[in-house]
Amino acid sequence: MAELQQVRNIGIIAHIDAGKTTTTERILFYTGKSHRMGEVDDGEATMDWMGQEQDRGITITSAATTCEWKDHQLNLIDTPGHVDFTAEVERALRVLDGAIGIFCAVGGVEPQSETVWHQADRYHVPRLAYVNKMDRIGADFAAVIEEMRDKLACSPLVVTMPVGSESTFRGVIDLVDMKCLVWDSEDQGRTYARREIPASEADQANEYRERLVDGLSAISDEITSLYLEGSEIPAQLMHEALRQGTLTRAFVPVFCGASLRNVGVQPLLDAITRYLPSPLDAPPMVGHHAKSGEEIVIPCDVNGPPLGLVFKIQNDREAGDLCFFRVYSGTFKSGAAFQNISKKRKERFNRILRMHSNRSVQISSLSAGDIGVVVGFKFSQTGDTVGSEGRPILLERMVFPEPVITVAIEPTTLSDREKLQSALSIMAKEDPTFSVKENDETGQLIISGMGELHLDVVVHRVTEEFRVNARIGKPQVSYRESITKQVEHTEVFRRMVAGKENVAEITLAVGPLERGAGKRYVSDVGTDVLPPAFQDAVERGVVGSFDSGSLFGYPMTDVSVRLTKAVYDQTSSTEFAFEAAAAVGFDGACAKADPVLLEPVMSVVAVTPADYIGEVIGNLNARGGVVQSIESKPGAEHIHALVPLDRMFGYSTALRSLTQGRATFSMEFAHFEVKAGDPGASP
Ligand code: GDP
Repeated sequence: MAELQQVRNIGIIAHIDAGKTTTTERILFYTGKSHRMGEVDDGEATMDWMGQEQDRGITITSAATTCEWKDHQLNLIDTPGHVDFTAEVERALRVLDGAIGIFCAVGGVEPQSETVWHQADRYHVPRLAYVNKMDRIGADFAAVIEEMRDKLACSPLVVTMPVGSESTFRGVIDLVDMKCLVWDSEDQGRTYARREIPASEADQANEYRERLVDGLSAISDEITSLYLEGSEIPAQLMHEALRQGTLTRAFVPVFCGASLRNVGVQPLLDAITRYLPSPLDAPPMVGHHAKSGEEIVIPCDVNGPPLGLVFKIQNDREAGDLCFFRVYSGTFKSGAAFQNISKKRKERFNRILRMHSNRSVQISSLSAGDIGVVVGFKFSQTGDTVGSEGRPILLERMVFPEPVITVAIEPTTLSDREKLQSALSIMAKEDPTFSVKENDETGQLIISGMGELHLDVVVHRVTEEFRVNARIGKPQVSYRESITKQVEHTEVFRRMVAGKENVAEITLAVGPLERGAGKRYVSDVGTDVLPPAFQDAVERGVVGSFDSGSLFGYPMTDVSVRLTKAVYDQTSSTEFAFEAAAAVGFDGACAKADPVLLEPVMSVVAVTPADYIGEVIGNLNARGGVVQSIESKPGAEHIHALVPLDRMFGYSTALRSLTQGRATFSMEFAHFEVKAGDPGASP
């Protein structure tokens, strides 16, 4: 591993089709780890290592790849661009120190990149921006900058400006050195010349330079004085100010190019090493003590106590589970065992690998600030903390959006059932937003995920990767249940089992919580009244009942449960009785607390030519949608609406036929809302 100051853990965030794969490919090629350049259009890009991604031409999984540039080690963390996979993006954002936002020079800031950009704001991730596809018809650099300012609420600061546009795009001007960079098309852009700025571009270049110096003056008094004196500003001073402003997120340095034409990528690589943070510059990770909940700051120190986070699990048919692991403190040696603090189990680091784009290299240890792959974990899941047993610290758990859609899946031949089950459980381990369970009554396998595309991807993998033929039923909305009233309920449980009496009496207070709060259980009863083992039994009984509500058996959410009273008898009370009393009591309390059905409401953005706007809005209204805003862009209207998910099935077909295939849409989960109509009627 390079010195910590020389390490960059970065991700690329972009709207689908902006050129993330192409740009990543070029990065891997110029940094020398990729033997030949794969074009996405041939389905050969190196990062897209799952067959299916290649078919679809989209990057779904979030692997990490290491490459080197000018004495720096870059760990590229791949973040998916499709909204159905925002959970994967969220997970990747947790472990990045910096990111590059790629925008298409024609499409500009699309809704999906807006979502991810704001997610990155939440994690305080310093960013660079790269305006790609400057060679495409309709490319408009200045318009993208304006959109960044408006929609992303950031201050873009142009560092390289394009020379020419569309078919005349031929290079970029480096506004720090005031040189024109022109790429050699003979060697796939590996080399480029630094020339004088052509006279035709001088005015524009001076204008951009002026703005750059102005932006940097806000950071550096030294630059301000030099500027006022009219003296030359040393490039090094500008780089330092650029770095400082990037790290404090005062502005976002902007670069441009056309990755497909091999133009503009190396200045971006230089910028990654110059301006984006090393693990030492990133704010220290904060964990919580597993028992006391006390907050603990974890400085990035290779000699500190070992602590790291599993941020991705990918199943590899030969090696087994590949656990992508970010170390925050200390050093993990291969061959040693450590404690999975989340699971309270020992895990052995059989092998540690560094993944390059086309090969993996075995390494002997992984230290604070670095990212690698561990082979040999048995119990770990995405989001788990691994460290030492005597120091039970949990790194903040990642919060994943809840699955909102379910579908029954069955193998075409009955004998494949076991194979199907095992394929689905492997995928559930890799992806915390995907789950599989068996319906107790029908024995059917039910899978749940974030959207139709998400489940499509799962089913496609089942057939292609695991070679099981399966068919699926009609997708169903995954509802939730909640309550609307505060209720106190006493449950007395008494049963003879094998000649022994089992008695328990408890009182539970249940009440509604605000939307999105989830479920909460607390005990107000002291351990002097009810011993700890019995307290645990009550908690197990209540928590076990959260999975299935009293109305239709959908999972409960936004409820608080308090144990307010318990009667314990030393001779006749058993843990079994308390667990059963809690389960039955919770259902009884909820039934009295005016239960309601909650349905997922989606935030939909339909993008349509102005000619069809009336039809598209009419159709959204007919689906019970509420239009929030309409945004006019050149050539397209963006309609933002909130629509119940159960009315969105078949929307892509409907939209296509309404607009002769000219409109597109994206959709993501917004929130749960009480379903209109009779609460007692089945959905
Ligand atoms: P991703 O979905 O963000 O990973 O985007 P891809 O890298 O797969 O690119 C989407 C499409 O845009 C592909 O057909 C690329 O060949 C094309 N593309 C990527 N970069 C450029 C570029 O600089 N110029 C042009 N004209 N097309 C590009």
